[in-house]
Parts: sequence; C-alpha cells; structure tokens
Amino acid sequence: MLTPDVVIVGAGPAGLTAAAELAPRCGTGRVLVLDREAAAGGIPRHSDHTGYGIRDLKRVVTGPAYARTLVDRARAAGADIRTEATVTGWSGERSLEVTTPSGRLRVDARAVVLATGARERPRAARLIPGDRPAGVYTTGQLQNLVHLHHREVGRRAVVVGAELVSWSAVLTLREAGCRTVLMTTEYDTPDAYAAFHVPGRALLKEAVATGTRITRIIGHGRLEAVEVEETATGVRRTVACDTLILTGSWIPDHELARTAGLDLDPGTKGPLVDTALRTSRPGVFAAGNLLHAVDTADIAALDGRHVARHVRLWLDGHQPHETAVPIVADEPFRWVAPGLLRVGDPAPPRDRLLLWTERLVRVPRVTVRQDGRLLNRRVIPWPAAPGRVFRVPWNLLRNVDPKGGPIRIGL
Ligand SMILES: Cc1cc2nc3c(=O)[nH]c(=O)nc-3n(C[C@H](O)[C@H](O)[C@H](O)COP(=O)(O)OP(=O)(O)OC[C@H]3O[C@@H](n4cnc5c(N)ncnc54)[C@H](O)[C@@H]3O)c2cc1C
Repeated sequence: MLTPDVVIVGAGPAGLTAAAELAPRCGTGRVLVLDREAAAGGIPRHSDHTGYGIRDLKRVVTGPAYARTLVDRARAAGADIRTEATVTGWSGERSLEVTTPSGRLRVDARAVVLATGARERPRAARLIPGDRPAGVYTTGQLQNLVHLHHREVGRRAVVVGAELVSWSAVLTLREAGCRTVLMTTEYDTPDAYAAFHVPGRALLKEAVATGTRITRIIGHGRLEAVEVEETATGVRRTVACDTLILTGSWIPDHELARTAGLDLDPGTKGPLVDTALRTSRPGVFAAGNLLHAVDTADIAALDGRHVARHVRLWLDGHQPHETAVPIVADEPFRWVAPGLLRVGDPAPPRDRLLLWTERLVRVPRVTVRQDGRLLNRRVIPWPAAPGRVFRVPWNLLRNVDPKGGPIRIGL
C-alpha cells in the first residue's frame, strides 16, 4: 500500500500542474500522480501542433513540447509520476484501487485530486446509423494513431464538427496525407473562432457544410461513403470517403467520480464543485476538463494551480463553510462551472465562470438573478458560440447572497 499526502489521478496539464505546485510543500515523493497511459502528458502528448501554453507558460509551444515541460516541472518539484497505472475504483473515502502491469496497488492519501480529463463521444454514443466499417475515429484516436503509432489513415476524410479541435484533426489528416473533403456541423455557423475557420477555409480549402448531419455510414470492411443530410430540408447526399473523424461533442471521463458517488453536475456531467474545486466528498478535489469539457490545456493547467492552493489548505486542517448556493445555467446555456458558491470561498480559477452555449449570441448580455431579482447585467465583448467555452468575469456575481437561493446565469 502507498500512503502519499496527495494522490492525483491523471497526468495531463491539470494533474501535472497541481503536482508541481504541491510537491515542494509536501516533500519529495509525497505527491503521487497516476496515469493509465504509457507516458505522462495527457492529450497534448499526441496533439502534434502548436497552440499550447499561452496563459500558463506565457509562450506558444506544440502539444508534445508542452507535455514534456509540464512532466519535467512536476518531476523536478519532487512528484512521483507513475504511468501504466489505471485507477479502477475506490476502497475508502480517499483510498484508491490501482491496476498496473505488475499487479494491483492500494493508495491511501490525505487528499485526492481527480484530473481525468474528457474524451470525444464515439460513434455509438452519437447514435449514427449504418454499417460498421474500419476508418471511423475520434480526433483523440486519430492523433494517437498518427503521432504515437505512426500508422496510416485513408486518403479522403469527412470531419464531423467545425470547432477548434476539428481544425486540429484536419491538420493531422493533412500531415498523414489524407485530404479532408468536407466538414459538417449541425450548427448554423462554424463553431470555431473566426481566427481559425477563416484562415482554415482559405489555406486548407475545406468546405464546411453548416446545418448538416451524418445520417448513414456506408461501407463493408472499409468506410466507402457517408450520407449527409441538410437538417432544415431533409435533403440527403452521399459523400465518398474512406475516413470519418468525429470531433468535439465532449464527455468528461467521470467514471471514478460516479463510482465514488460524488455529486455530479447535470450540465457538465463532471463532478459538482465549488469555486475552490472541492467535490462533495471532503478531501476529494477535481480539476481540468473533467469539470469543463472541453477547454484549452492552459485553462486546465491553471485549474491545477488553483486546486493546489485549496488542497494545501485542506492538508493544513482548514474546513470549508457548510453553506453553499448553487450556480445554475439558464438557456441558451447548457452548463456553468463551477456550480457552487460557498460562504467565504475565493473566486474560481482565473476569476472566470465557464459556460457552454447551445446557440450563437454575437452580443451577449449576461444576466445574474437570485431569488427572482435581477442583480447584474453586462454586455460581454466576445460572442457566446457553440463549440467553445464562454468565459464570464467573476465580478458579475458581486452582490449575490452566498446564503440565498440559487444564482441563475442567463442571457
Ligand atoms: C485533438 C485536440 C487538439 C487540441 N488542441 C489544443 C490546442 O491547440 N491548445 C490547447 O490549449 N488545448 C488544445 N486541446 C485541449 C487540451 O488538450 C485539453 O484541454 C487538456 O489536455 C486538458 O487537460 P486535462 O489535464 O484536464 O486532461 P487530459 O489532458 O485529458 O489528461 C487526463 C489524463 O488522465 C488520465 N486518466 C483518465 N482516467 C484515468 C484513470 N482511471 N486512471 C489513470 N489515469 C487516468 C488519462 O490517461 C490522461 O492522461 C486539444 C484537445 C484535443 C483532443
């Protein structure tokens, strides 16, 4: 049995940053990071393009370089990082069961940080009908295949989604010698920032079919085509392709949170946390994309820095106030994170609330209501758009009563 001060599940940007912050205080080897993959680093490890590290490292690097930096920092700080170590369950409040190639382990810690990230919904979860040929991947699977295993993909791809990660998939396909013949999105506008889809369309010449969805996968053995439907008219056409990439549509990797019986947020589907990133179980915290699927890696890393401060307070015996008021997302928002405000607690990471919208609002007038009263309204100078996190300054919640009714965020 291992008995570190802190055990962190997930060696992605959130877990590694939390480890680098906590290890100097706890001592060498007293912070244990577990990851089921063969190497630490999380998603950036196989996301071989630039665009990582802006807000935490203050420079832009590639995914693999970013992953290496965070692993080196955590190790140099004294964290013990163990790979090929899958956490499979709980054997107590802050006690984990771990499976490794050399056998099973039990880890009893004073604090647990869940930083298990998020994944893209695969075909089955998206209920796409049709045949079951080879050649259908999520972006995560595609990048794993191309960058870590140096395997070939096909020659003609259709990409489902038009958000940031969808363009990342297009770049990976291009590197692998596979042309993207079409991107489809059910939304009326491409979901990525204009800064991505405008040059993306111009440079890569990809066609983005908005207001469309895939209604059939065709192919025996290998993918041969997909059927694409215009949602407004029902008109269908067949697009020949040998590769289909399913991007976006995120789901937090929340199995451990569920099996622990932690309160889950019905919107994010991750654990329900307060602004200190505490879950409903004392001494169990959560950070990164597990809480907001999906935001950028630097935001996950800064969550890690934030949660480390509150894990330290917990280790020092600090007890949070019992009273907490829910923060609720009203339509068109699907979720807001964090979802609880506790008396006496700090602002959330980066002084921002994170929200996800179902429809494009170019000039969002965000409202904050409590107990039937409008407390604040502010025009946010950036659009709320599907397919990316919408960030709202925390000071919009000034005047809320942390002992009052639910705080409702709407438009
Ligand atoms: C294709 C793609 C392109 C992207 N491009 C960019 C970009 O250009 N810039 C940017 O900033 N962000 C980008 N992102 C987003 C970024 O990668 C994520 O925001 C970031 O990796 C989230 O960090 P995390 O630590 O929360 O989770 P992750 O990086 O997902 O790490 C979670 C870790 O937990 C481990 N784990 C899960 N469950 C268990 C378990 N039970 N036991 C042990 N280990 C477990 C996993 O193996 C994984 O290593 C991209 C994402 C994708 C998918």
